[in-house]
Amino acid sequence: MSYPNWLSQRAHLSGSRMALAYGREEWTFEEINKIAIEYAERLVSIGITDETRVAILAKSHPESVFIMYACLHTGCEMVMLNERLSAAELKYQLADSGADFLLVDEDLQEKVDFDNKILFGEIKNRNRTEFIPIAEWREDRTISIMYTSGTTGYPKGVRQTAQNHFSSAVSSALNIGISPDDVWLCVMPLFHISGFSILMRSLIYGMGVQLHPKFDAESCARELCAGTVTHMSVVGVTLERVLNQLETENLEVSPNFKSMLAGGGPVPVSYIERAEKFGISVLQTYGMTETSSQTTTLQPADAKRKIGSSGKPLFLYQIKIGTDAAAGEKAEILIRGPQVTPGYIGKYAEREVQNDGWFSTGDIGYLDEEGFLFVVDRRSDLIVSGGENIYPAEIEKVLLGHPAVREAGVCGMPDETWGEVPVAFVVLNEEISTESLKDFLTGRIAGYKIPKAIREVEALPRNASNKVLRRELKTWV
Ligand code: ATP
Ligand code: MG
Repeated sequence: MSYPNWLSQRAHLSGSRMALAYGREEWTFEEINKIAIEYAERLVSIGITDETRVAILAKSHPESVFIMYACLHTGCEMVMLNERLSAAELKYQLADSGADFLLVDEDLQEKVDFDNKILFGEIKNRNRTEFIPIAEWREDRTISIMYTSGTTGYPKGVRQTAQNHFSSAVSSALNIGISPDDVWLCVMPLFHISGFSILMRSLIYGMGVQLHPKFDAESCARELCAGTVTHMSVVGVTLERVLNQLETENLEVSPNFKSMLAGGGPVPVSYIERAEKFGISVLQTYGMTETSSQTTTLQPADAKRKIGSSGKPLFLYQIKIGTDAAAGEKAEILIRGPQVTPGYIGKYAEREVQNDGWFSTGDIGYLDEEGFLFVVDRRSDLIVSGGENIYPAEIEKVLLGHPAVREAGVCGMPDETWGEVPVAFVVLNEEISTESLKDFLTGRIAGYKIPKAIREVEALPRNASNKVLRRELKTWV
């Protein structure tokens, strides 16, 4: 199976429609395709072909999109690097991916050394070598390689094929619908699946993208009110900041705006209610790098009935819990569908990712009687204490319910009697004694889940995706 080149096909079918907007500038699909071909001709003169693996380290601006689209034309594989990584982490991913070239934004050039490092400005100055864009894209062609956040161990380089991106875009469209006037506001990083999938949807649907250099609550609120955008992807914190902006300025969201996709973790129901007041429907999603974004989605209509749930699978996908767990029973979440990666590269290249098509997520969850998914925690963070399973996320959530607690992280500590016991680390808003916190937990969670120790710290160890590194907390106990 193959697809006609998405850029050429899109330019052919709806070339005069808006493809990309940035500030006051706009490009149609025809224009963006022409620019992408010109950039591709320069990439070819550098030596990039459909056999090359190219790492990209870039910020969110139009030139980054042009270069990514040029890479699509050449057929090379793009390793998307996260600009928030440290030099050592970037070096690791560059080495692990075996990238042939590093294409880097001028602003980020100091971040890492690499032999074949080419600045965006240098690409622009290259001569053009005539070439014909690849007409057919094989469905198993690797379009992008993205590293997982490295929350549970080394970041894993995930292959995302044309089929993965295509099915992800189609499933999302079957769920939320598409119309020719849709414009997606992109404030998520392009190197992450949440941002890159917006570009893929743009090409597949013929939908416009309103790109912002970074998240800024004020400019997002302005777009929502001006009616310039119809969709937006958020995470819990960014959603809260947009709502805060709308509330303090007492703004009115345009009826043009349709929905928000919220990923990365559970969204408090209070945010959904606040959003509703502005007529904004928030779709909570569960997904990961290995599934090219959302796999399940919770409809706003179910949000209050199913607090804490990530919803049901999108139409093309299947979810199961362990080997046929009963409703309510917790076990590993398994996912099957055309969005699941065929595998990793580098250090994890040999790891089997599919067992009869099923991908083991490493997350523990359960399905309720109606088939709604609840994500509980990471399997690797499970604490077994005196034969009882303890999920750190549950304790963290309760701790965060105390007004004095700003951040909380829980991990296991070896214990002679129980095998393991939970320990909590907290960042506080105000002074409070450990005893008061333990009193607060008593009655809210079972006795064996109450942390043996609660320690105040300045900050929790987090990765570039802002996720708490519980494996690092373990070295603090
Ligand atoms: P690594 O695989 O390297 O440990 P990671 O799993 O954090 O890193 P990502 O692919 O960025 O890397 O994150 C996906 C993970 O995020 C999921 O496996 C899950 O643990 C968590 N997650 C995503 N959406 C939700 C959600 N709605 N509720 C709870 N957890 C979620
Ligand atoms: Mg993971």
